[in-house]
Amino acid sequence: MKLRVKKGDTVKILAGKDKGKQGKVLRVLPKEGRVIVEGLNIIKRHTRPSQANPQGRIVEKPAPLAASNVMVVCPGCNLPTRTNISRDSGEAVRVCKRCQRSID
Ligand SMILES: [Zn+2]
Repeated sequence: MKLRVKKGDTVKILAGKDKGKQGKVLRVLPKEGRVIVEGLNIIKRHTRPSQANPQGRIVEKPAPLAASNVMVVCPGCNLPTRTNISRDSGEAVRVCKRCQRSID
């Protein structure tokens, strides 16, 4: 599955508990069709006590979101947008459908 979202993009969440929020993509998981967004879709993991952590503790970290539930936010018009692929310069570049600005 080809994803339109890339690491470092700002995306808006379209579904789930953080719907409507924006964040930066930390990782893209192409095989799973998922992305990890900084500070969003946080899950709490209770770790068992271990030698390094005698008490055990609660770790909060962002869980992957389905890429279909996020939309790239254009840095030009600052709105969530669909992208077109432009090959003008020989390289495939994503372009905002609203303002035609290059996103890459
Ligand atoms: Zn735009």
